[in-house]
Amino acid sequence: MDVIATVAGFREARARYPRLGVVPTMGFLHEGHLSLVRQAKQECGAAAATIFVNPTQFGPREDFSTYPRDMERDLALLRDLGTDLVFAPDVAEMYPPGYAIGVEVGGVTDVLEGAVRPGHFLGVATVVCKLFNITQPTRAYFGQKDAQQTVVIRKMVRDLDMPLEVVVCPTVREADGLAMSSRNTYLAPAERQAATILYRALRAAQARHAAGERTAEALRHVLRTTLAGEPAAATEYVSVADRETLRELETVPPQGALLSLAVRIGRTRLIDNIIVGG
Ligand code: AMP
Repeated sequence: MDVIATVAGFREARARYPRLGVVPTMGFLHEGHLSLVRQAKQECGAAAATIFVNPTQFGPREDFSTYPRDMERDLALLRDLGTDLVFAPDVAEMYPPGYAIGVEVGGVTDVLEGAVRPGHFLGVATVVCKLFNITQPTRAYFGQKDAQQTVVIRKMVRDLDMPLEVVVCPTVREADGLAMSSRNTYLAPAERQAATILYRALRAAQARHAAGERTAEALRHVLRTTLAGEPAAATEYVSVADRETLRELETVPPQGALLSLAVRIGRTRLIDNIIVGG
């Protein structure tokens, strides 16, 4: 496994592989990330992971400086999976002096995470565009865990005619349903227990949909009231939205809907989602 910190070095190593599956990450890897790397390796024959905590996608009051990092452990996990290449640049390699461009994806970035985290998707789309240019994926792998991110990336790839395929993989969960996330490490034991409310709320709304409920506001009500049952959880938003446009729905159509939520448990912000119908 080659671990490379420079754009020039990565380009040179990249040339050895006719097909390459690429998994962009911010490191502190867990089974969710590893599932993407496995699928990349299996489908493309060679897999690359990128590890870069991208400062431009964090807001001024967000957790950039405290975001968990453990490069040695990440590299050991990736080596065990047979990962071929790792791109782990520093901030100056990605944003050298004079750097002055951004990729703004319209239409799907002003709602949900984009509404609460201004500038977040400008940072995400820009860094992913750069990572695509550097790594030249045959296919790039993303997790359903970050549902809006997958919509934004797909739109960028389509609108800018980027020559690669975006693959979205299922959310990997802990045994009690909590979606794996590097940020789960922030949770104190009691908070970790309280965090199970996110998936329980999604499952409750999913059950109501399965029982025939198609009124979006009724499903939002199930999400809100289930979350309200956990005193340690402060709801930021709940949403029942169109899977592609991410606009809030009045009625869940036959092609289904994206149910998503953002919740604060103590100082930790968690998101999760589920697709119903379709
Ligand atoms: P991150 O390191 O949080 O930026 O995540 C890197 C990639 O892993 C993104 O495509 C995420 O959506 C994906 N990912 C994160 N958590 C999970 C999970 N629990 N299951 C599947 N994919 C995930």
